Amino acid sequence: MTSTLFAGIGELCTCEPTLGDGSALGLVHDAAFVAKDGRVAWVGRVSDAPATDARVDLGGRAVVPGFVDSHTHLVFAGERSAEFAARMAGEPYTGGGIMSTVAATRAATTDELRANARRLLAEMHASGTTTVEIKSGYGLDVGTERRILEIASELTSETTFLGAHVVPAEYADDRGAYVALVTGEMLAACAPFARWIDVFCETGAFNEAESRAVLRAGIAAGLMPRVHGNQLGPGPGARLAAEFGAASVDHCTYLSAEDVVALRDAGVVATLLPAAEFSTRSPYADARALINAGVTVALATDCNPGSAYVTSMPLVIALAVREYRLTPAEALLAATRGGAAALRRDDIGRLAPGFSADFAVLEAPTYVQLAYRPGSALVAQAWRCGERLTV
Ligand SMILES: [Zn+2]
Repeated sequence: MTSTLFAGIGELCTCEPTLGDGSALGLVHDAAFVAKDGRVAWVGRVSDAPATDARVDLGGRAVVPGFVDSHTHLVFAGERSAEFAARMAGEPYTGGGIMSTVAATRAATTDELRANARRLLAEMHASGTTTVEIKSGYGLDVGTERRILEIASELTSETTFLGAHVVPAEYADDRGAYVALVTGEMLAACAPFARWIDVFCETGAFNEAESRAVLRAGIAAGLMPRVHGNQLGPGPGARLAAEFGAASVDHCTYLSAEDVVALRDAGVVATLLPAAEFSTRSPYADARALINAGVTVALATDCNPGSAYVTSMPLVIALAVREYRLTPAEALLAATRGGAAALRRDDIGRLAPGFSADFAVLEAPTYVQLAYRPGSALVAQAWRCGERLTV
């Protein structure tokens, strides 16, 4: 197979501390790496580079691992700008607008849903994301949830069944029947297209007992657990994630000190979604407390039409630096290695030998500009498995 040398890299962030300067980012200057069969085969100074079949010169730009966006709701129809405008005029976010997206999604054709998801995925690629997780949750009936996951599985291997997003209106008077559907017929229809089971464990969504039932059924169907928790207020989500050995608990805006300890002890990743907090004008999660306690932190977009219609991981990094007070290095690690950990993946999130050759080339001399120049389109190129994704 062809080997390609990517050379002319002013600053290479490997996110592998055993490489380069010994920092957590494993920085190499005047760097190069070799991609072969879709994977990184060698990393080092360009002056030490081995012979290869082909060579790509990156003109002195900075290179970072492709972003791992481990939390999105990419398959849906319609948009909710009117709800956003009302919220910015002072109305609180309660999650209730989800049902308007459910109505639009049920009414959409599969081709329409696929086209919308592909459009958003193209935006993500253009901003440097090379791995994306996609959840269902805007169908809330057997046929639509299955259609959503079929589309999601065309776009990524990281698919999540979130039939337990909210209880749809037609089950408002019989929540138990909806939980029975999610854990029964709907799960059976969706599990073949899903890798993960998820539940929105929150006041107004699913309570602790219902969340337990959903996670237990998903695990019994062969899916791995992850949890939406502690977004709108304190609650049992993080604790349940720890108890069930979930890969990740996502949002974590309202965690107690006990929750933080439980996550650390259980090795659960805390996936923080600052674009949701930004877009709903909510308090920001205490990322510093999590990092200080030794919890692995991931950053993701939460791309969805209600609380965070955001596809840009560079924006998420900038928000994390500004609002969570992460250093630019901590934020980049959370957007790459952290996302990989949240998906239990050991083949992505770093540019090191053996890892997938997934990377973003920045129109900048250093990764710090991801946070320093928010709003600018700094990603010049994105590559996955050594193949160019964007033009
Ligand atoms: Zn979400």
